[in-house]
Amino acid sequence: MAKKYGMIHDENLCIGCQACNIACRSENDIPESVYRLQVWVNGPKKLADGNMVFEYHRQSCVHCDDTPCVKVCPTKASYIDENGISLVNVDLCVGCLYCNAACPYDARYVHPEHKAPDKCTFCKESRLGRGEEPACVTVCPTDALVFGDINDPKSKISKVLSQRVTYRQKAHLGTEPKMFIVPNKKGGVQS
Ligand code: SF4
Ligand code: SF4
Ligand code: SF4
Repeated sequence: MAKKYGMIHDENLCIGCQACNIACRSENDIPESVYRLQVWVNGPKKLADGNMVFEYHRQSCVHCDDTPCVKVCPTKASYIDENGISLVNVDLCVGCLYCNAACPYDARYVHPEHKAPDKCTFCKESRLGRGEEPACVTVCPTDALVFGDINDPKSKISKVLSQRVTYRQKAHLGTEPKMFIVPNKKGGVQS
């Protein structure tokens, strides 16, 4: 069976340090004015018991299995590869930006240099291509990110998915994201 890559972000373990964002920028040569990944920090929020908490939410491409960005692309520049990774072929892009408009996760931006849409690729063109884990996963100091093949029941991501309660952003849209989130026990589930 072909691999199908996915990722988990554990909002309990995340501390909002942005190491993932910085490593992504460095490893994938992302210009300063744009980003493939951001961890938004909300708070501090006061709980009923008087304790204060921060909440951390990752924003990046969620690698939909049913992909709005691919469906609207008139040239097949936006596509899904054999392992379920959503990608952009810059050479086929005509710059219509239908894909950017169609993405419900606000995950795409126009790359300032080549002018085509860009987004998280699970580091396919850099680390994954060398058999390494994505940059954001490898630098996370709290192991809040888990990456792997969700079709392999023995993979770490499959084991975590079988043991933990997770949710997916905007699941009601039917996009079938392959980004799974362990909700913050101290906060509420975002949808
Ligand atoms: S590196 Fe890890 S702990 Fe830091 S913001 Fe990213 S996911 Fe959260
Ligand atoms: S999150 Fe947006 S860019 Fe990523 S696969 Fe889904 S629709 Fe496409
Ligand atoms: S998987 Fe790679 S491209 Fe995607 S956010 Fe992480 S470091 Fe960036």
